[in-house]
Amino acid sequence: MSYDTNNVFAKILRKEIPSHFIYEDEYVVSFYDIHPKAPTHVLVVPKKAYIDFNDFMLNADKDEVFHVLTDVQKVAQQLDVVKAGYRVVLNVGSGAGQEVPHLHFHILSNKEA
Ligand code: 5GP
Repeated sequence: MSYDTNNVFAKILRKEIPSHFIYEDEYVVSFYDIHPKAPTHVLVVPKKAYIDFNDFMLNADKDEVFHVLTDVQKVAQQLDVVKAGYRVVLNVGSGAGQEVPHLHFHILSNKEA
């Protein structure tokens, strides 16, 4: 399967769809999920074009893996959900419910950010 450059997160990254980023650095952008499934539901989306977690782990270099994972924790910290607790969800493949074919981490917390 090749990367679909027309997926919604690719469009958000290209700023073709306006979105409010709550965090951005060299590696990721982060924004609220449009259909929240918890009081806090944020997405962390790597800037590079990876279809899913398999693609990422097989093709990203160690440095990028480290920075992206560090950013997921950094965003959780910024949202102030660390003490309350949060889930990091990665749906890998359509069979697991991945709707958008661009790697993204869900941060979900029962605490409102
Ligand atoms: P997946 O099912 O692929 O793991 O998660 C995709 C998530 O992206 C869903 O939770 C869905 O609500 C969210 N989503 C889809 N389109 C948009 C959009 O245009 N903007 C935002 N902020 N979230 C979106």
